[in-house]
Amino acid sequence: MPDRYFSETPIEGPLATLAGSEAHHLLHVMRAGPGDRVTLFDGAGAEFDAEVQTLARATATLRVLERREVSRESARELVLAVAIPKGDRQKWLVEKLTELGVTSLVPLLTERSVVRLAGSALDKLRRNVVEASKQCGRNRLMEITAPRSWNECIEGFPEHRRLVAHPGVAAGLTAGSQTPTVVAVGPEGGLTDHEVELAQQHGWRPIALGPRILRIETAAIAAATLVALADGG
Ligand code: SAM
Repeated sequence: MPDRYFSETPIEGPLATLAGSEAHHLLHVMRAGPGDRVTLFDGAGAEFDAEVQTLARATATLRVLERREVSRESARELVLAVAIPKGDRQKWLVEKLTELGVTSLVPLLTERSVVRLAGSALDKLRRNVVEASKQCGRNRLMEITAPRSWNECIEGFPEHRRLVAHPGVAAGLTAGSQTPTVVAVGPEGGLTDHEVELAQQHGWRPIALGPRILRIETAAIAAATLVALADGG
């Protein structure tokens, strides 16, 4: 995959501008010069062949040569609602869910949640989505929504197939054709019986991800992989 750069502003005309860390990468890491060819994407689905035109200290202007609709998205919408883990495990979670084609990540606030993400932490994770998308070739960004409480989450997806990962239950994942799907993953201390019962009352189905207890991020990645495999990618 050629070097890919993310444009924060939609690419619509014959010119595109890179600023901030993207311009820094192009100018100071790749040491690009006028005439060099790169691939751009703006998160809306397409990718663009472009040629470096002018370079300033903190911005680069590129001439757009060709726009291509290239979709590397999965056929089915998949939302992961996850009680976000601590520290470095957050970046890892976001990176892997982006690579696995998850549509949206909903940070979940449950009774036993420890991590409550605020503005700058969310911005940092959204930047991790961009980095992972550059690497894996996604032209649409995985959305990271505002945090939701358990009640908001279980009431929020009436049209989706709704699954809650819960260790020890008998049911596993079954194929769901291309139905939009949401999977909830609880915190280190687990979801309470009350939270699982409430979810069931709202049509959520508890599923097991095997006989061992997985950490939050492993459970989220396993769920994303299993849904993708059960539904044919
Ligand atoms: N002691 C907690 C419990 O029994 O629920 C363990 C919580 S686990 C570290 C964090 C979350 O990952 C759980 O709330 C659940 O959503 C998910 N999870 C972990 N292992 C799982 C499994 N084998 N099957 C289904 N979900 C699992």
